[in-house]
Amino acid sequence: MARPLRADIDLDALRHNYRLARDLAPGSQAVAVLKADAYGHGLVACARALEGQAPAFAVACIEEAEALREGGIAAPVVLLEGIFEAAELERVEALGLWMAVHSEWQLDALMAYRPARPIPVWLKVDSGMHRLGFAPERVETAWRRLVDAPDHACDLHLMSHFATADALDDGYFRRQATLLAELAERLGAPTCLANSPATLARPESHGAWNRPGVMLYGSDPLEHANDASRCLEPVMTLRSAIIAVRELAEGEPVGYGGRWTTPRPSRIGVVACGYGDGYDRHAVDGTPVLVEGRRTAIAGKVSMDMLTVDLTDIPEADIGSEVVLWGRAGNGEVLSVDEVARHCDTISYTLLTGVLPRVPRRYHGG
Ligand SMILES: *Cc1c(COP(=O)(O)O)cnc(C)c1O
Repeated sequence: MARPLRADIDLDALRHNYRLARDLAPGSQAVAVLKADAYGHGLVACARALEGQAPAFAVACIEEAEALREGGIAAPVVLLEGIFEAAELERVEALGLWMAVHSEWQLDALMAYRPARPIPVWLKVDSGMHRLGFAPERVETAWRRLVDAPDHACDLHLMSHFATADALDDGYFRRQATLLAELAERLGAPTCLANSPATLARPESHGAWNRPGVMLYGSDPLEHANDASRCLEPVMTLRSAIIAVRELAEGEPVGYGGRWTTPRPSRIGVVACGYGDGYDRHAVDGTPVLVEGRRTAIAGKVSMDMLTVDLTDIPEADIGSEVVLWGRAGNGEVLSVDEVARHCDTISYTLLTGVLPRVPRRYHGG
């Protein structure tokens, strides 16, 4: 038997989640965010599944855009961080990309470059994230420079990113949203503001475009789920199997350092999945897993190629039994990557993007 670990990617679920993002914002278009290898799900496979449904895709850098073009994707692709050096403008033009402009130097480079056709530009405002973007008081000047250079830039949009759209407390979100609404109105600018949590929970931020990312992959980014986010379906199932079973007396330590000790006579299952596959080593004892579609928990530290789970209450489990680390089990039971992330003191994004190349991806549907 081959090593049983794999990542099953449900492209129908991806399309379902995209449709949800679009239906939540009927007045907006949704650019599907595919950066970081589509959050670990496979860039080109996900783009192909969404082609025809999504009018545009977004990535972090020109290398990712090139991979899309090499994969035969012809739809518009937005560079969310724009160029990293002026020399990239030639490739932006050749690949037919759209780009964010977040800094004076990028604007200067675009003005110094003469494309055969103007490049669609999303001008990024720092409305409170304090990472990328023009300070609000500098936006108008930058916007006018772009408006006055129709040979260089076209399809201008105002873009910004929310720091707290996922939080129940909307105080800081409202501060950002108010600032952006005023700016957009003053400039008469169409906007692109909403990430996944804002797409799901902040309809007042929906603009000409929205930028859903993690929700497309079935993760709920909201601090408190809402009716919309409960409709998301998991796209990745990280699936493996039990490869060995131990019967242990009470009081026996399991795994490195003996972090977990059997509280009773126990059956322990060894699962072919470890941190060498990208499973988070910070997973605590009690981190949920599904064995034969039934919930049980990690018992003992995660090792490089293996982890151990408590099978005491799942007597039917044995060597070869299905283990789902997150996603949907064969019996339909779902273990959300968000719940696993909470037990690893992290977020779904790091788990999904962290699945390593050694884990084969298997694509279904689409
Ligand atoms: C990654 C990213 C998004 C998508 O964010 P999610 O939280 O995954 O929806 C949107 N906009 C920008 C600028 C990003 O970098």
